[in-house]
Amino acid sequence: MNSFWLDSIENKTKFNKLENDISTDVCIVGAGIFGLTCAYYLMKQGYNVVLLEKEKDIASKTTGHTTAKITSQHNLIYKYLIDSLGESMAKKYLYVNQDAIENIAKIIEKEKIDCDFERQDSYVYTNNLDELEKIKLENEAVNSLGFKREFVTSTHLLFDVLGAIKFPNQAEFNPMKYAYGLAKCITSSGSSVIDGLVNAGSVGSVSVGDGIVENDSSNASSEGANKDSHSFTSNSTESNNSFSINSTGPINSFTESSDKHINSFKVTKGTGEIYTDTLVQNIEKENDEFITSCKDCVVKSKYVILASHYPFIDRLGYYFLKMYQSTSYVIAVDIGNKTFDGMYINSEQPTFSYRFVNGSNGKRLLLVGRCRS
Ligand SMILES: Cc1cc2nc3c(=O)[nH]c(=O)nc-3n(C[C@H](O)[C@H](O)[C@H](O)COP(=O)(O)OP(=O)(O)OC[C@H]3O[C@@H](n4cnc5c(N)ncnc54)[C@H](O)[C@@H]3O)c2cc1C
Repeated sequence: MNSFWLDSIENKTKFNKLENDISTDVCIVGAGIFGLTCAYYLMKQGYNVVLLEKEKDIASKTTGHTTAKITSQHNLIYKYLIDSLGESMAKKYLYVNQDAIENIAKIIEKEKIDCDFERQDSYVYTNNLDELEKIKLENEAVNSLGFKREFVTSTHLLFDVLGAIKFPNQAEFNPMKYAYGLAKCITSSGSSVIDGLVNAGSVGSVSVGDGIVENDSSNASSEGANKDSHSFTSNSTESNNSFSINSTGPINSFTESSDKHINSFKVTKGTGEIYTDTLVQNIEKENDEFITSCKDCVVKSKYVILASHYPFIDRLGYYFLKMYQSTSYVIAVDIGNKTFDGMYINSEQPTFSYRFVNGSNGKRLLLVGRCRS
């Protein structure tokens, strides 16, 4: 049986299998939402990125089989986090997850990704008297983190609930449409140009990290985006600044400005390549380089990100001892005109998760997930 999300993509972009050795800045293993998001942000920061996916489609494993709610409400997690890791960590967890929602919204808006993104309130509810106290304690925990959330006794569900916590202004989307949208941005990168300023000193090299260009022999700095080292020379007199770029990397043109020591430059953003049907079998470090081995070829890179969901390189983690499988089932059902707002999950086991999706004929279908760990 195919995933509803996978079937919802028309004219899927086809990616090639990697068949020859290549080099890049960052090699990312796994093209689910995590790998694609890393590739997107790194490429925007000027890194050249190669994404390797073992399946024929991107995002076709976990990402393509989720309920695709975008929310910082993860069942009853905040009381647990406060009790086990303290308030500060719980707060960080909450705020990074809130940021993630807004970041996804920003990407969708900026890149014009058509992925059925909709704002929805999210609820964790119960109909079990024993759970009600836990829901109330969770609500207190969330509010103690400075995040005002509501305990409610009525929702839009078609049945009554004893109590629920409402997180307003969360979101839902179609994860496959989003993934293909990200992939398009990643693979069509490399042609856009960022303007920046170098406050040049005498002679030095422009080394760049995290989007900041720095001249390490003087006080040169800029909001550019490039990660390589580029040497340049500057006859740094008030009116005579000349640069020679000793690089094949992304900095590709400098122009002078009349300001003393200030020179504008243009930086090409990083490039992104995605290869599917490419199983990574091993990753090793040789000197300063990572060698990511597939069946018939290797990728050499400065950095590697394992975005494979399951960490298949199991050196020190002993994950095989700690991890276990759980199976969830999600189905899409036509329930006629009885659609309702919001996204829901109950707090007890087995878990039932609900939200609506747009069916191909424009009908709203109820997506129901059931999970027991
Ligand atoms: C039923 C269910 C519902 C969920 N609902 C939600 C939800 O509503 N909202 C939410 O935020 N989260 C939800 N999740 C959690 C979900 O797992 C994550 O949000 C997210 O989709 C995980 O993405 P990922 O990129 O880490 O993993 P994946 O999507 O699994 O991506 C990992 C990729 O790595 C590839 N890979 C693995 N090994 C290799 C290798 N050796 N070589 C090359 N490629 C490799 C895989 O093929 C895969 O494509 C749900 C999970 C489940 C199971």
